[in-house]
Amino acid sequence: MPKIIVAIDGYSSCGKSTTAKLVAKQLNYPYIDTGSMYRAVTLYFIQNHISVSNPKEVESALGNIHITFRLHGESGKNHTYLNGLNVEEEIRKMYISDKVSEVSAVASVRHALVAQQQRMGKQKGIVMDGRDIGTVVFPQAELKIFMTADPTIRAQRRQLELMEKGELVGIEKILENLRYRDEVDTTRAESPLKQAEDAVYIDNSLMTLDEQVDMVVRLADEQIGLTLRKRNFGEG
Ligand code: C5P
Repeated sequence: MPKIIVAIDGYSSCGKSTTAKLVAKQLNYPYIDTGSMYRAVTLYFIQNHISVSNPKEVESALGNIHITFRLHGESGKNHTYLNGLNVEEEIRKMYISDKVSEVSAVASVRHALVAQQQRMGKQKGIVMDGRDIGTVVFPQAELKIFMTADPTIRAQRRQLELMEKGELVGIEKILENLRYRDEVDTTRAESPLKQAEDAVYIDNSLMTLDEQVDMVVRLADEQIGLTLRKRNFGEG
């Protein structure tokens, strides 16, 4: 079977990662959560007092940042490692969410991470989610999804996620953070969040997780079939 790239973009906390993870499992592809890479860089910048307005400082910090993913035995989930340390739990905390959009708007940060993401998807057969996967990282991806949901529903889902990790945050504070990140992510000069022209738009406010996953897997199967026909019969 030919392998394809599945690019899932969309707003913060609209269920991209949960959907992408399950789609990857069904397709038997690795899954890369690019948001966790921007979060890991943010953690490094905070810990090392790197100022985003100092290009030299940022450039040299990027040279010292090594991000990897390793399968976590107990959960079966990919955990994010920053310079060999498991930072999966730390990067999900609210103080990182508060700062990550500022860090990810820096052009040199994006260039470094996009280059790493493109290397990871070179052989295809990957599901990647983020903000610019279908537009910048893999504009040639066979399947592009643009996902969104009602902001209040996104905030409720995020609150539940944080609660499960023991962090209690009020709904207003979460909504404020989501609005702020949406604003910065969609208006930044460097690869802003926007729907690729050929992306399938999914508003999942009223969909169950199973419905979303089934829909994306079905679209992926269609693309795999199309790629196979093109390869065998030179169609298209
Ligand atoms: O997906 P998640 O909410 O964890 O992403 C955190 C932040 O990382 C986003 O709000 C956005 O600022 C940034 N990001 C990005 N490009 C990506 C993935 C995430 O700018 N491809």
